[in-house]
Amino acid sequence: MKILVINAGSSSLKYQLFDMNTEEVLAKGLCERIGLDGHIKHSPMVEGKSVYEKDLAMPTHAEAMQAVLDLLVSADYGVIADVSEIDAVGHRVLHGGMEFTKSCVVDDACIDAIKRCIPLGPLHNPANLMGIQACQAVMKDTPQVAVFDTAFHMTMPPKAYMYAIPYEYYENYQIRRYGFHGTSHRYVSARAIEMLGGKPGLKIICCHLGNGSSLSAVVDGKCVDTTMGLTPLAGVPMGTRSGDIDTAVLQFIMNKEGISADEMLDILNKKSGVLALSGVSSDFRDLDDAAAKGNERAQLALDKFIYEVHKYIGAYAAAMGGADAIVFTAGIGENSASLREAIVSGFEYMGAKIDSEKNNVRGKEVDVSADDSKVRILVIPTNEELMIARDTKALTE
Ligand code: ADP
Repeated sequence: MKILVINAGSSSLKYQLFDMNTEEVLAKGLCERIGLDGHIKHSPMVEGKSVYEKDLAMPTHAEAMQAVLDLLVSADYGVIADVSEIDAVGHRVLHGGMEFTKSCVVDDACIDAIKRCIPLGPLHNPANLMGIQACQAVMKDTPQVAVFDTAFHMTMPPKAYMYAIPYEYYENYQIRRYGFHGTSHRYVSARAIEMLGGKPGLKIICCHLGNGSSLSAVVDGKCVDTTMGLTPLAGVPMGTRSGDIDTAVLQFIMNKEGISADEMLDILNKKSGVLALSGVSSDFRDLDDAAAKGNERAQLALDKFIYEVHKYIGAYAAAMGGADAIVFTAGIGENSASLREAIVSGFEYMGAKIDSEKNNVRGKEVDVSADDSKVRILVIPTNEELMIARDTKALTE
């Protein structure tokens, strides 16, 4: 069975083609600047086929999808003989609101429900829908599945997802915590449970630390809390997002600087986080370099990030009454040994101790906890695309 996984942005479209008999990636690629000048990069992962990269005008996502299909079957760059070999397509969709607690086969009702979630995900959901509609246009009879970033977190109890604001905002507008990176949290927590032998009731704290960062608390495979909220702005500070903040600060700044709510939100999403604190970069590698050269604000940005992630781990251990494992994933979590060590340092009282030597790894699935650590500390590279492909297979087989 072959499954194509699509992640459509407003002007981009990422794809991976999986052979689900082996769960191997046959090809992957990225269309960029759709609707502008257009650029495509296609990388076959099988022997004897070369990478294709070219400027190519793609006025809409449908042309981009057609270009992807043409490459997948082409003599020089292709990995399948015919488009009909693709059994199903899985789509990443950002916001499933309260409509979706799990992945679903795309039909008219599913599309309508994704549309109803547009007010909650105004930037991403329309783009995700364009990806779905592009596939419907060029692969008419191929079943499609939507996989939501929010769905895994829908098991949170009301005390975790409700905001303490007038109740009618929840009733009228579905204002509540939703959480994101759900497919990643689901993948790494399930893997952690496997690595711990699959005992019932395991308590896992997942730290997805990348450009965007979020933590989740998972009991028995079900999410009970997560750091992001109605939008991905909440929680720990990130590359360019502020994370949690006293909301009265916003009114203060808006009055002082004479800026609108939209402009303020743009600043919180794109010009805050470690970028703003450091004045150097949103990339943690740059911050490490600058801090090593004595840049105090770069060090402050790192310290702030470490402190807030550390604090949320403590909060989630409190919420769950302990933890069996702390899992690190995504760009920073998988690659930065120094940040992992700094984040878990000081948790010896909780029984969590890292082994510095074992921790000296990048991008590999490893248990990095000290032999006498009661809490396992795990590095688990995330694989959201594989998770989407698995859901797609399960729902369409
Ligand atoms: P996204 O959230 O966009 O999927 P990733 O999970 O790929 O992002 O994470 C990208 C981030 O990971 C980069 O911005 C960088 O800050 C961080 N990163 C990658 N490698 C390292 C490293 N070796 N040390 C520190 N940070 C790293």
